[in-house]
Amino acid sequence: MHNPHPVPLLFESSRPGRATAIFPKLDVPEVSLDALIPAGFRDEAPPELPELSELDVVRHYTNLSTLNMSIDANFYPLGSCTMKYNPKRNERLANFPGMAAQHPYQSESTLQGLLAILYDLQSYLAEIAGLHAVSLQPAAGAHGEMTALLVAAAYFRDRGEKRTKVLVPDSSHGTNPASATLAGFEVQTIKSDARGFVDLDELKKNIDGQTAVFMITNPSTVGLFDPQVGEIARLLHEKGALLYLDGANMNAILGVVRPGDMGADLMHYNPHKTFSGPHGGGGPGAGPIAVRDFLAPYLPAPVVAKGPDQTYRLDYDRPKSIGRVRAFFGNTGVLFRAYCYIRSQGPDGLKNVAKHAVLNANYLMSLVKDVYPVPYGDRCMHEFVATARGLAKERGVRAMDIAKRLLDYGYHAPTVYFPLIVPEALMVEPTETESRETLDAFAKALLAIAQESPEVLHDAPLNTPVNRPDEVTAARNPILSWKPPAR
Ligand SMILES: *Cc1c(COP(=O)(O)O)cnc(C)c1O
Repeated sequence: MHNPHPVPLLFESSRPGRATAIFPKLDVPEVSLDALIPAGFRDEAPPELPELSELDVVRHYTNLSTLNMSIDANFYPLGSCTMKYNPKRNERLANFPGMAAQHPYQSESTLQGLLAILYDLQSYLAEIAGLHAVSLQPAAGAHGEMTALLVAAAYFRDRGEKRTKVLVPDSSHGTNPASATLAGFEVQTIKSDARGFVDLDELKKNIDGQTAVFMITNPSTVGLFDPQVGEIARLLHEKGALLYLDGANMNAILGVVRPGDMGADLMHYNPHKTFSGPHGGGGPGAGPIAVRDFLAPYLPAPVVAKGPDQTYRLDYDRPKSIGRVRAFFGNTGVLFRAYCYIRSQGPDGLKNVAKHAVLNANYLMSLVKDVYPVPYGDRCMHEFVATARGLAKERGVRAMDIAKRLLDYGYHAPTVYFPLIVPEALMVEPTETESRETLDAFAKALLAIAQESPEVLHDAPLNTPVNRPDEVTAARNPILSWKPPAR
């Protein structure tokens, strides 16, 4: 696509010698490089790095950053992602040398502070889950799903049971069937009923002695809390199967409902969603899992343990463990931010997070649903899924056109075309961190866009550096490297 504001690469702006630092005359004896680093350990030529002044570099990155949408600059109602504001305080704390300068190969005795934090985080996450034991190792939500399913597989293997199937609802996130497949299970999809809940009759028909786990997302990806979850847990447990809760939507129920009380046996968290971890540009994330007591022996090793003498250590002595799923302690930087967030909110603060997230989503939904109907539910949890099907039929304007036009209005687009059970889906999640004024202005933009001519909408966005990239080519043939010209 035509790019009206091409930004040259740093390599293209490079000028030989521009980055050269000027050192004072040597006033100590000169030592040859060979004496310090033998030639065999050195590259033959210096690395081919661009040479620029500091000001060139600062401007380059500052200008680039304004070409993108970001939470710092724009409202980012990306459903299913909980793109809430990440308090800057947590960033500052995570950069304290006591955190940022730790090394995983330090001895445990010198890592007591970090281990104490991770230990406490394990217990907070267990408490919020209403479950018993936690592993902080997995590196993302999807990785947590896979790890938890490996834990379930180990549990059944240990009991001498051969269970091959994992059931997922048709509204589930794509990572659910993918994780189940990676963990060696066969996946079977369960239809949703007309209300957008799990179809109980379908579920009953499909639970049998081969069923290992049913993965539920509650609240679901259509933004609804499935009140049948207790009955679903009962049906599974009756047949010896387990209930997995995809905790990506924990933001809506923090401190209000515990997955363990719903009957879930195992779950993952997405700290980068729920606990304000930095979230974007592909990471980093984390995917801690929480499980019921009888599954604890199978958790990845090590877990952080506390001895009778109040010292913390990494406990590797777990003979039934599935083994390690991540190097060292997990993504401690993200986990530490989650710890700071949980501690700074406190129990009442976490409950308020959930209540305000639900209030904000319902408020926004009520402002737009006459023009963008919401097929499932009159009320929602933390997000709602509207449809642009009417606009598509009447005016040929699709969800994608609306999403693209929102960029011109200064808003990141909502999630589109997911979940699959809603045609022309626009999945909107405002989160608790947005003000009423922001929600009002966003609703106004959505309503204004519905009135605009299809010609404008088909060409949108008109004001961004790139307008409609070919997404398939961009995904299949990404250009990720640039070779500097020979000097
Ligand atoms: C985000 C999400 C996941 C996957 O989590 P990652 O951290 O992106 O791997 C799984 N399920 C649901 C419902 C999600 O929204």
